[in-house]
Amino acid sequence: MPTPELLDPDKEHTLVLIKPDAYERGLTGEILRRIEVKGYRLKGLKVKKASRELLTAHYVEHKDQPFFPALLDYMSSGPLVAVVVEGDRVIEGFRTMMGQTNPTLAAPGTIRGDLGRDWKTPAVQNVVHGSDSPTSADREIALWFPELVFKD
Ligand code: UDP
Repeated sequence: MPTPELLDPDKEHTLVLIKPDAYERGLTGEILRRIEVKGYRLKGLKVKKASRELLTAHYVEHKDQPFFPALLDYMSSGPLVAVVVEGDRVIEGFRTMMGQTNPTLAAPGTIRGDLGRDWKTPAVQNVVHGSDSPTSADREIALWFPELVFKD
């Protein structure tokens, strides 16, 4: 049995970020509602103004992309909400709920398709992040919620 405050390694988890544009627009409750009514469980949740160091580590795979500086400006522009979500096939399931990267192209019914607005700023402001694989989820959860992964 894992200690209660640690994540159960036998269950699947993903890292969701409710990005600064969504937090600022008061969309946190709507996004958490969609996650909960889908049947997923919230296992960790914090409001945080992310440092550029944390965001650089989080988006390390994009660090050579031309949009990387604008992405860091966007993601550090205000508080965001970091969430650990648990559920069967939640990584893939949340990616489906999220919709594709560009909110203009994201399908209606998805979070980005329904709530995403702005596609003209240097970084694509698209409301949410969700881990794209089990390896990414483990890495991202350890970055944002070390207290849920590592014992003191
Ligand atoms: N992004 C951007 N311009 C691009 C591609 C991506 O500003 O041309 C931003 C956008 O906010 C996106 C994030 O970088 O969500 C990470 O990109 P990724 O390709 O991993 O998209 P996601 O998995 O978030 O849909």
